[in-house]
Amino acid sequence: MTPSSEDSRSVTEDRAAIIGGPRRACQKSRLTARAGVGYQLSPMNTTERLYYSDSHLVEFEARVLEVSQTEDGRSTVALDRTAFYPTGGGQPTDTGTLGGARVVECVDEEDRVLHVCEGELPEEGTGVVGRVDWPRRLDHIQQHTGQHILSQAFVELYGAQTRSFRMTEEMCEIDVELADPSDEKVETAVRRANEIIWNDRAVRVHLVTPEEAARMPLRKDSAREGELRVIEIEGFDFSPCGGTHARSTGEVGCVVARQWERAKGLVRVTFAAGGRALEDYARANRAARATAALFSVGRDEAAEAAARLQEENKQLQRRLRAAEETAARGEARELYEEALSSQREGGGPVVVARAFEGRDAEGLRRLASALAAQARCVALLGSVEGGAARLVFARAPEAPGDMNALMREASQTLGGRGGGRPDMAQGGGQHAERLQEALDAAAARAREQ
Ligand SMILES: [Zn+2]
Repeated sequence: MTPSSEDSRSVTEDRAAIIGGPRRACQKSRLTARAGVGYQLSPMNTTERLYYSDSHLVEFEARVLEVSQTEDGRSTVALDRTAFYPTGGGQPTDTGTLGGARVVECVDEEDRVLHVCEGELPEEGTGVVGRVDWPRRLDHIQQHTGQHILSQAFVELYGAQTRSFRMTEEMCEIDVELADPSDEKVETAVRRANEIIWNDRAVRVHLVTPEEAARMPLRKDSAREGELRVIEIEGFDFSPCGGTHARSTGEVGCVVARQWERAKGLVRVTFAAGGRALEDYARANRAARATAALFSVGRDEAAEAAARLQEENKQLQRRLRAAEETAARGEARELYEEALSSQREGGGPVVVARAFEGRDAEGLRRLASALAAQARCVALLGSVEGGAARLVFARAPEAPGDMNALMREASQTLGGRGGGRPDMAQGGGQHAERLQEALDAAAARAREQ
């Protein structure tokens, strides 16, 4: 496996899978300030992780080991025990309260959990009541347990391992080693995951030695030594993990896959479980109904209606182009005859010099080409649009004159640039008020030829 951020995540997950974290051999005794008692030795400076044994515990009492400041000036509180889950293993931090303080983030710091707090901080050595925000925890339980189930469904059906897991604000992602991905494959895995959820299978936590773990059908290996925490989804999945899980699969509610895409040789499946799946359904339904309302069709017919409209639009574009060509030929004929009638006797060029209002580059080019199809015609066309002037010069193959040279000069008059071939050139400039002047000068030069 190549080194990537995915690896660091799985390492984090494995580390959390070791109960209490790797205790250091020479644990320093610390002096801890205790109000009214003075200083006394505190031999234990580690945090007991209550969420390991009960992921549904949201209120607990603890003793404050240390209150300190981070380098960026945030206050952190370390406790002798906590129900707060710190960021790790693809699962975001818990939030909540510690006494009168707001816990905005929890950080895993080796054998302690640091609670980043705002507001009234508890004092070192005192007791404090912690409360975990339950809706957020439940959401994490649903997504995280849903991930175990969906990942194992991919293994069971296709032997496709999950390489990483991420939980964002609205959705979750797993990167799966899935060969020949398709909507059908992903949908089948999602259906299997929901079967497991609706079976309401027990989710059990096993604390095992590496030897015991080696005898378990673990979905993924843990390279770590020491006691392991293995999460069993009854008769379906065994996975070493330090996260917070449902009591039984029914609590997950459901799993839906929003999309999949190829990413770095893997398949990234974006999914949501439980409440998030419901929220996503509401969003998708609103979007589909709003689209359907534009077409005055039923929700499920919206995509078909949109495809029909797109096809109609293409046909209209084709017809419009054909009509514009016809109109350009007609207009060119008129302009040409007008110029021809005011032409002096002789075989010189028939010069059509015209300024238009708001004609786009495409329309101007089309008319110039139609004029260039007339005998000995030189077309010198300009248009003012959005305060700027554009020019298109073209001539019939047998007509004299260098459109490129005329265009350079005319564009200069307009304060801009232009050029092209001897028979066709384009340009323009910001001085729209000098358009007629530029065209007149070009026409005079063209007639001299
Ligand atoms: Zn887990």
